[in-house]
Amino acid sequence: MVGESIPVETDIVVIGAGPGGYVAAIRAAQSGFDVALVEKDAYGGTCLNVGCIPSKALIAAADITHDATHAEHMGIQAELDVDFSRMVGWKNNVVKQLTGGVEKLCTANGVTLIDGTATFTSETAVQIMRNGTNLGSIAFTHAVIATGSRPVELPEFPFDGEHVLSSTHALGLESLPERLLVVGAGYIGMELSTVFAKLGVDVTVVEMLDQVLPGYERDIARVVRKRAESLGINFHFGEGAQGWESTGRGVRVFTESDDGDQSEYEADRVVVAVGREPVTDTLNLGAAGIETDDRGFIPTDKQTRTVAERIFAVGDVVGEPLLAHKASKEGEIAADVIAGEAATFDSRAIPAAVFTDPEICTVGMTEDEAENAGLDPVVGRMPMRASGRALTLGETDGFVRIVANGSSGTVLGAQLVCPDASELAAELALAIETEATLEDIATTVHTHPTLTEAVMEAAANARGEAVHTLNS
Ligand SMILES: Cc1cc2nc3c(=O)[nH]c(=O)nc-3n(C[C@H](O)[C@H](O)[C@H](O)COP(=O)(O)OP(=O)(O)OC[C@H]3O[C@@H](n4cnc5c(N)ncnc54)[C@H](O)[C@@H]3O)c2cc1C
Repeated sequence: MVGESIPVETDIVVIGAGPGGYVAAIRAAQSGFDVALVEKDAYGGTCLNVGCIPSKALIAAADITHDATHAEHMGIQAELDVDFSRMVGWKNNVVKQLTGGVEKLCTANGVTLIDGTATFTSETAVQIMRNGTNLGSIAFTHAVIATGSRPVELPEFPFDGEHVLSSTHALGLESLPERLLVVGAGYIGMELSTVFAKLGVDVTVVEMLDQVLPGYERDIARVVRKRAESLGINFHFGEGAQGWESTGRGVRVFTESDDGDQSEYEADRVVVAVGREPVTDTLNLGAAGIETDDRGFIPTDKQTRTVAERIFAVGDVVGEPLLAHKASKEGEIAADVIAGEAATFDSRAIPAAVFTDPEICTVGMTEDEAENAGLDPVVGRMPMRASGRALTLGETDGFVRIVANGSSGTVLGAQLVCPDASELAAELALAIETEATLEDIATTVHTHPTLTEAVMEAAANARGEAVHTLNS
C-alpha cells in the first residue's frame, strides 16, 4: 500500500522506481536502512510499463503470429485469426503482474512507497509534490537519483499520441494501423518495426544514417536488415525527417537527403524513435549542488556517487548504456556503497540485446576495439547455418563471434546475431566476468542439439580446433 503521509526523515530517499531505483531501494532496505522510494508515475519505471516488458510481450505474440503462417515448408498450413485487442489485454496483464510484484517486493522488504514528484531543496532534503499539493519535506542522510529517461521529441514532430507517436504511444496502441512510418532505425525503431510488420502492418522506416542499428558492426546490421526486408519493411536510408502534415486519413511525412533530395511518404501514423534523453527537469539539481553534463546526464564516479557526496545517481539518468540490467547493477552498487562496501561499477561485461529477428546480443569488446586497445585479438566464428539446432528451428541466419586475447586466450568480447542471442550471451558475459579463456569454453561439453553449441564451436574456431566448421 502506498502511504498517504510521508516520513519527515529517512536514511535513504530513492527517487524513481524503475529498475535502477527499486533495486537500490530493496537492496538498501535489506542492509537495514530506512528507505523511502518516491515515484511520480508508475512503479517499475520505463522498463516494466513502457519499455522492455511490453515490447518483449508484443514481440513474442508477433513471432507466434508470423511463424504460424510461415511454416508451409514444415507442412504446416494455418489459418490465422488475430484479435489484437486481446493481444493488448494479455500484454497489459503481463505488465500489471510485474509492476504489482515490484510494489509487493518493496513493501515486503520494508521500503516506504511514496506517490509523488521529488525535488531537491538542499543537499539533504527533498520536497514531495502530488497533483499540485505539497506533501512536505523529507530530510535524508543519503539519496539515490534514478529518474531514468524519456523519448527524444523532434521539434518538427511533437508527440500527440494520435498522428505522431513515441515508443510509449506505439506500445499502447489498441488497434493496428494499416501503414506505419517509423523514423529511426535504432534498436527501439527496429524492434517496433519488426513487431508491426509481423502483425501485417505495412511498415516504412526512414533513417538518416546508411544502415539499420547504427553503432553496431555492419555484418550484424546486414543480417537484421535482410530479414526485416523479407518481412516487407521498406527502408529509406540517408534521409532525415523534416516535417509532416495531416492528410485527413493519416500523415504525410517529408524527408530530405544530405544531397538535398526531397521525398514524402504517407502512412496512418508516424512513430518517432530517435533516441532517449535523461529526465532531470523535476529534480532542481542546483539545490543539491549537482550539474548535468552537456548531454543532460548526471556525472558520477565508479561508485555511482555524484559531486554531492551523499547523493548517488544510477541508471539511464547517468548515461550509456541505457539498459535495465545496467540500471539495476548500478542500483545495487549505490546501496552497497552507502552500506560501507567498496563496490564499484565495471562496464566490461554488460550485455546489450536487441530483440529483432534474429536477435542481436553483444558483450565486451569488438575486434576493432580490442585492436585499438593494443591487444592483438584472435577471433572465432560459427555461422548458424552449420548449427544442427538452428536447422531444426528453421532459423539459420546469423553467427556467433568471439573475440579473445591472442596471447592469453582470455575472452574479451562477443557479438551474436542469431535466434536466442540474448540468452546465449549470458555464457559469454560470465566468461568475461571470470576471465575465462577460449579453451575453457571450447572444452566445456555443451548440450546437443542446442544453440549453445555455437558458442563452443566459435571458441574452438578461434583456437583453430573447430570440428563442424572450417578453421581459418
Ligand atoms: C521501447 C523500449 C524497449 C526497451 N527494451 C529494453 C530491453 O529489452 N532491455 C533493456 O535492458 N532495456 C530496454 N529498454 C531500456 C530500459 O527500459 C531502461 O534502460 C530502464 O528502464 C532504465 O531504468 P531506470 O531505473 O534508470 O529508469 P526508468 O525505468 O526510466 O525509471 C525512472 C522512474 O523515475 C520516475 N521519476 C522521474 N522523475 C521523478 C521525480 N522527480 N520524482 C519521482 N519519480 C520520478 C519516472 O516516473 C520513472 O518511473 C527499453 C526502453 C524502451 C523505451
